[in-house]
Amino acid sequence: MSGKPLTTKSILRLITALVLVIGTGLLAIFTNLQNKPTLAENGILTNTPENAQDLRKTPPLSPSPPPPLLPPSPRPHPLPPTLVQWKDSTNSGDYFSQVKLTEVCYLVWSQFPIRIYVETPKEISKEQAKTWVNTVIQAVQEWNVYLPLEVVKQPEVANITIVRKAPPLQKSPNSNIPRARSAQTTYKLYTNNKVLSHRFTILLSPTQTGNYLTAAARHEFGHALGIWGHSPLPSDALYFSQVRNPPPISARDVNTLKRVYEQPTSLGWSLGEKYQN
Ligand SMILES: [Zn+2]
Repeated sequence: MSGKPLTTKSILRLITALVLVIGTGLLAIFTNLQNKPTLAENGILTNTPENAQDLRKTPPLSPSPPPPLLPPSPRPHPLPPTLVQWKDSTNSGDYFSQVKLTEVCYLVWSQFPIRIYVETPKEISKEQAKTWVNTVIQAVQEWNVYLPLEVVKQPEVANITIVRKAPPLQKSPNSNIPRARSAQTTYKLYTNNKVLSHRFTILLSPTQTGNYLTAAARHEFGHALGIWGHSPLPSDALYFSQVRNPPPISARDVNTLKRVYEQPTSLGWSLGEKYQN
């Protein structure tokens, strides 16, 4: 590119080529995530990233090997007003150091309200299904004070989907005996009008009932809001293990959430923007 004057046409071709590469990279991420059985494979989550699929059909413009995946440059979004307002008078600290970085930096939502779909279970009685859905929605709504949420009736518009289903068995590193999990939260990346976006699926095991169901829903939802890690203290909702008397959302949980939302992310920003400077 050095020395050659850039015409509008060549700039456009360059951008198209780069977007194509990013699209391919994203497809690689999807493929990796889909190695485990996912809801998408079971046909529950059918809204696949159409942008990425369209890009796959486009023939490559150049035979040169693709450069590494370059998602949008991570930068912070404005802090949501609900978190600006949050002041911890108890100064109880946080566990932000336990929050893991992902390939898109921090898992921050930037469009509000965040839309939640709770699937009505079919394998139990109507009455039981109603109780289950209400318990989950109540637990999830506890977070509404800190980030605006909306429960939706259409699964295809949801950012976070919650399903009553046993998570796949997990092999622990020290043993060959697969471990049953009470819940699992996973995310997928997709592009929407070139904006890098994510959506979450939360599986809550049918073995969880009553207080445990509330605690599991509250805990997993914290992950889906961006707390991608665990607290070392049992008094926090995001404590790594289940406890007999599950605590409500703690000041430390909210302090951690607020710090996450002050961090940079590639989510919510346009692909290719980086190259137009
Ligand atoms: Zn967890």
